[in-house]
Parts: sequence; C-alpha cells; structure tokens
Amino acid sequence: MPDPAAPPLSPAEPAIDPAAPPLAEPAIDPTIDPAIGPAGPVSDPAVPGSLRGIGVSPGLAGGPVLRVAEVPALPEPTPVTEPAVEADRAVAALAEVVAELTRRADRATERTLVDVLRAQAMMADDPVLRDTVRDQVGAGLDAPHAVDAAFAGHRTAFEAAGGYLAERVADLDDLRNRTVAVCLGRPMPGVPSPGHRYVLTARDLAPADTVDLDPEQVAALVTEEGGPTSHTAILARALGLPAVVACPAVRELSEGTVVLVDGGTGVVRVGVDPAEVTAAETADRARLAEAVEVTGPGRTADGRPVALLGNIGSARDLAAVAGAEGIGLFRTELLFLDRSREPGLAEQAEAYRRVFAELPGRRVVIRTLDAGADKPLSFLNQPDEPNPALGVRGLRLARQRPELLRTQLAAIAEAARRTGAEVSVMAPMVATRAEAAEFAAAVYAAGLPRAGVMIEVPAAALRAGQLLEEVDFLSIGTNDLSQYTFAADRQSGVLADLLDPWQPALLRLIAEVGAAGRAAGKPVGVCGEAAADPLLAPVLVGLGVTSLSMSGRALPRVRAALAQRSYPDCERLARLALYADDPVRAREAVA
Ligand code: PEP
Ligand code: MG
Repeated sequence: MPDPAAPPLSPAEPAIDPAAPPLAEPAIDPTIDPAIGPAGPVSDPAVPGSLRGIGVSPGLAGGPVLRVAEVPALPEPTPVTEPAVEADRAVAALAEVVAELTRRADRATERTLVDVLRAQAMMADDPVLRDTVRDQVGAGLDAPHAVDAAFAGHRTAFEAAGGYLAERVADLDDLRNRTVAVCLGRPMPGVPSPGHRYVLTARDLAPADTVDLDPEQVAALVTEEGGPTSHTAILARALGLPAVVACPAVRELSEGTVVLVDGGTGVVRVGVDPAEVTAAETADRARLAEAVEVTGPGRTADGRPVALLGNIGSARDLAAVAGAEGIGLFRTELLFLDRSREPGLAEQAEAYRRVFAELPGRRVVIRTLDAGADKPLSFLNQPDEPNPALGVRGLRLARQRPELLRTQLAAIAEAARRTGAEVSVMAPMVATRAEAAEFAAAVYAAGLPRAGVMIEVPAAALRAGQLLEEVDFLSIGTNDLSQYTFAADRQSGVLADLLDPWQPALLRLIAEVGAAGRAAGKPVGVCGEAAADPLLAPVLVGLGVTSLSMSGRALPRVRAALAQRSYPDCERLARLALYADDPVRAREAVA
C-alpha cells in the first residue's frame, strides 16, 4: 500500500516528535567518568582489580571461580601391551561416570533433572556398551580410543533407530566425553559439582552444559563469550542468577580466586574478601526482597503506567509469569517444533485456548509463526539459503505459504472466541508498511480486533510512524533489532559487544519508534531481552516505550526500578544514554 502524501523530508526535519524532548543532547554530565573504557577484554580501569563484560542478568553474588571443564582431545593412540588391564581401565572409567551421574542424581532436587541424570547413568551402565569397549581393546585400541570407538558404534545405531533413541544422541556424546576424560586422567567435561557454592566460568555455555547446573551451588555465571541473547544469558535470567558475558579476561583467573559478580553493571571484582562477598550478597537479597514487596501494575514514581508483561512459549510457562499484568509475547514456534507436518487448526486452537483461558480479562499478545534462521522448523523444508537471517523468515514466510498464516489466525480467533482474554496478534520480522497493512488486514479478516507488528528490522523502526497508520501497536524485538542494526549475528559470542542493548545506535532507533508511538497515541512495547534489564527500563520508558515484556524472574527488579523514577527522570536518563559515546558510558551515566 502506498504511503499517503508524506511531508517532504528535509535535513531540518526532526528525527522525532518535536514536542518530545528526549532527543535534545544533554549538557556534559559530570557523572560520566571519562576514564571508563569500552567493554571488552580489558580489566575495568574505573574499578581497580576488576574485569568488565556485559551484565545480562542482574544481582550481586560471588565465590571462588571454577571453570567448565572442556572436552579433552584424543591423543595419538598408544600400543596396548596388556589388553586385559587396558580393558579393565576402560570399563572402570565407565563405572566412574555411572557413579558420578548417580551422585548428582542423588543430590539434585528438581524432578526432571533427577530423571535425566538417572537415565544417563543407566545408559553408561549398559552391559552391551561394556562388552563393546572390551571388544575394541581386544582389537588393539587403548582405553580412550576403545571408548571412543564403542560410543561411535552406539551413536550410529541410535541415529539409525530414529525417534526417541535418535534424540538421545546428545546424551550419548556427553557420556563419551566424560568417559574419555576419565581415561585420560582429566576432569569430566561439564559443569563442576564440588558440593559448595562457586562462580561458574566458561568460554560459553551450551544447552547441554547447563542441564544439570545446580543453582544451589552456582552463585553466578561469567563467560568469555556469549551475548545478551546467548543461551547463558537466557538461562541465567530464568534461574535468577547474576551473569556477565563477553568477559574474555575471566580466562586468566586461576581456579579458586574469589570474585564478586555484578550482573547489572557487568563488573567482576577479583580477589575479594569472602566476608565482603557475603555482605554484598546479603544486601542484594534485601534489595530483591524489597523489590518483590512492590506489587501491582507497573508505574513510574509519579504514577505513569508502564505495563509489565510476561514472555511465554506455551501454557506451561504461565506460572513463571504469574506476577505480570498479561502476556506481551507468546512465541508460538514451540507447537511447530519437531513436526513433520503443520499442526492443524483444531490442535492449534486448543493450544492457544489453554493459554488464553488462564488469562481472563487480561491482555495477551500472541505472535504468529517466526520460523527460519535461529528458529528452523523441519516441517517447512525450507531450501538452504546462503544467509538465512536475511532470508525468508518471520512474516516473509507468508509470501510463500499464505495458508500457514491463514490457518494460524483462524486458530487464534477460535481460541479467543472460546475464552475471555483480550487477544492481540503481532507479526515478526516486518520491514515495510505494505507488509504491516497486509498483515493487519489478515488479522481483522480473521475476526481478531487488534493487530500489531514487531520492530526488529531498522527499516521498520525508521518508518514506525507509517506502520502505526496500519496497525494498533508496535512491539520492539531488541534481540533481532540489535542483530540487524549492527550486522552482527545474534548468536555470535565474539561480536557480543555489538549486541549490547545499551548501544546508543540501538537506543536511537528505539527513540524513533517511541516518538512515533507518542505522536500516534498508540502503544509501543519492548519484548526482547533488553526489557528485562532494570537499569535500562527507565531509559526505555523515557524513550517512549509504554510496556515491557520479560521472563517472570525479571519482573520484581524492573517494577521496583520504575517505581523509583519519575517520568521526567526517565526522560533525563534516556537523554544521557542516547548521547553517550558507547554502551559502557551509557550504563555508567544512567547508573
Ligand atoms: C526479539 O527478536 O527481540 C524477539 C523478542 O523475538 P525472538 O527473540 O523470538 O526472535
Ligand atoms: Mg525476533
């Protein structure tokens, strides 16, 4: 759809609503310390004896550091002189792995984790596996190579069996790595379980590393790589653990060094007295307890409402966001995962109804299918693309498969009719006004009352005002908006500094969208991970954001942070962040 006659652009045209002051450059603020350097591998000159990374999950906690042990490389094979002894050595390594997994299962309290660990221990205790290992030694291999060969054979068989067994291949690989490590006299790879609290450090954490991460023992996380949307960051926020990512210097710390991690500012203090750690943790717990006391709808200190909403992937996540005023992002991909065919209208309607039924009278924003790139869905059989993040993903899929969107909207409409929830629908990865208009038309045609689009592409942010002429609301997906603004893969660990939501260029785009929302009198939310940062929340509000959607754990600190700031304060902080030279200075200025 063409734009209506738009006023001519001129260099003098203000970037945002001239009535809104937040973009006026602030006077030099004396609180910005020019000594503060950029984020990265450096120690932090502003805090002696400290390292700096990106804080991705707020809170203060500390303890001795322990590293995730890495998978050892197989050395050159050695000749076997005593096969019986070598076979016993290999089988003993398997037994040690069984014993370690059983110990962990005995200690774990979370039901799913206990089940996973027991199932893995049973796999390692398989007599067929032991026999295969012995056979391999009999064929001339030393213990680590015999273990490697035996697991490789099992792996192939599991894969060929398909189904449940094929899904266990990752567990098998983990067992192989542990057994090889024991054969080589190295620590078992994965998260340590020393029986006391510690700070976990790693290059980065993979999902498999964290399945048995015990929040009773792990006080905080610090990784060399990883960005604000990395697995480490998402896990830390879900568990409520302070975390700092993109902190390469942590590699240099020797095990046992006591550190204090500030997951808000990204500063890791090194060589701290344990008594000081305890005092800092106690004070932080008291602050959190105070934050939890602040209940009710989100608002600034002077009473301006800022809706605080939850992010979910299915009805199972609802309990975690019970403190939210509604749902700001219901990701629907989960229902489509691991499917060879698209779920039908009735199945989808039932899945959506289960969520809506829990939210009578409350708002819920459901997002249509966001497949492609970091969310591949096998049933789509999408052809390989040279650059999937820039390819057919999100709403673009409807160009090729319009029936998918039609069915999904019909299912959402059916579920909405059967419940009392206040349902809005939004589309991911919208770039143009025409796309927004077409999506809104499809939503209304399905009988749904409110249509919105996500702002994840800079083109959409720059034209937010035009998009708002087509839809009822906007929701900024900062995870993707960072990726596309900085041309930096959201999953890249080494480019994490570019993906920092405090990047002034990202904030500038958010300001554009906020100003468009103000001018149109329509809501603008943030539902990317940036919404969970309590220090950033007042900045976002000052930029014009009217709702923040996040995981349940993040709600109390964000609610409390807003309750401490008046709206004019939020606008002042927004100006400070927007005009800072880099993310570190932006944080420092606001903090
Ligand atoms: C985002 O991109 O910020 C977002 C919320 O969507 P997702 O993380 O699901 O891509
Ligand atoms: Mg996204």
